[in-house]
Amino acid sequence: MTQKYQAVKGMNDVLPAESYQWEYFEGVLRKLLADYGYQNIRTPIVEGTPLFVRSIGEVTDIVEKEMYTFIDSLNGDSLTLRPEGTAGTLRAVVEHNLLYNATPKLWYMGPMYRHERPQKGRYRQFHQVGVEALGLAGPDIDAEVIAMTADLWRRLGISQFVRLEINSLGNAEERAAHREALIQYLEQHADILDEDGKRRLYTNPLRVLDTKNPALQDMADNAPRLSDYLGEESRVHYAGWKATIAALGIEFVENPRLVRGLDYYNRSVFEWVTSELGAQGTVCAGGRYDGLVEQLGGKAAPGIGFGMGMERVLLLLQDKNLLPAQRSVDVYLVNQGEGAGLYSMKLAQQLRAAGYSVVQHLGEASFKSQMKKADGSGAEFALIVGENEIQAGQVVIKALRADIVQQTVAADAVLATLASLKA
Ligand code: ATP
Ligand code: MG
Repeated sequence: MTQKYQAVKGMNDVLPAESYQWEYFEGVLRKLLADYGYQNIRTPIVEGTPLFVRSIGEVTDIVEKEMYTFIDSLNGDSLTLRPEGTAGTLRAVVEHNLLYNATPKLWYMGPMYRHERPQKGRYRQFHQVGVEALGLAGPDIDAEVIAMTADLWRRLGISQFVRLEINSLGNAEERAAHREALIQYLEQHADILDEDGKRRLYTNPLRVLDTKNPALQDMADNAPRLSDYLGEESRVHYAGWKATIAALGIEFVENPRLVRGLDYYNRSVFEWVTSELGAQGTVCAGGRYDGLVEQLGGKAAPGIGFGMGMERVLLLLQDKNLLPAQRSVDVYLVNQGEGAGLYSMKLAQQLRAAGYSVVQHLGEASFKSQMKKADGSGAEFALIVGENEIQAGQVVIKALRADIVQQTVAADAVLATLASLKA
């Protein structure tokens, strides 16, 4: 028996029965992003490993255990399949000097790779759409990013299934002061910390609070709050952000424990969460990363962005039956007999040139079975060509969905007739 091959675990094929749903979702996204003035950027799927370690942070889930890293056997470089989109985008921005006299608003869409345990809403190859708005320091862009995502939920019809959680992480000094207090607090509770917690106590104490362990919730709830350590500027920024979102009529809850799993965030952070997908409830997550451009070798520039898990949004759309029906072709061309193939192919080309989508039946089959296929295709019209029609220079037009009498018209009148029937 010959070997059969299977896709890599946690990496999924998207087959036609589902790919049209992706196309619909991507179409809504492209329109939305254009409406807000974002421009597309396309960066490689593979980057040098140090880029991710440096930007995402050494002590994070992603860098500690989730990256697909390999050695380029040609030169010994360590390379990594991108686990997220911000690092590569900012690498490109710095490399090509896109911030020179400009405040670019960029978006990307594509596959990301993380070595996780596959389950519903969590895969090893998954897709994110994300934006990065660079060079703008004020809370107005933070609010516009929220407004845009809220607008997306409205356009998709899922506003009622998602909620917005926000927090402010302050700046580096404020986080350092809070960190010290937090370490002291965690040391007092070291006896109840789990493995992860003990390991992170000194390396990433904020993440200890991000625990999902129920036994640690009380401890986490009573820990020193970052909000109490925010200085004047950070507080004003946070207040400005909240006031604008509220004035736009967008509901949110403040979650003082929202810290995000990547190191580069500061000030505004947010997550859009749903309760409809079980444990994998975060559909979109992001925030401000004012130090990252400089950290990656560019001239200091503020930035804010988000990454959205496209599979999770699609799961929600499927679950709520909010996806349109699969689009079918306009015309199915039934043809049989001497010379019918070429006669029909020329006709099909004329129709396509006029804007119709057409499937011409290819291969031997009876009229009856071809008509069945025409019906199953979802096409609005069947055009029928047999030897009689060729001899008379005609085509039969049959409406498949509407109650219209079948007609036989001259071949050069097909376009006009179809147009009148559609009207
Ligand atoms: P989680 O807490 O679910 O692991 P995260 O904090 O690791 O998420 P981010 O790095 O912020 O996620 O990525 C942004 C979004 O990408 C997530 O909110 C989620 O919607 C999606 N996402 C992240 N990891 C996966 C995955 N393995 N499979 C599918 N979607 C994912
Ligand atoms: Mg994760």
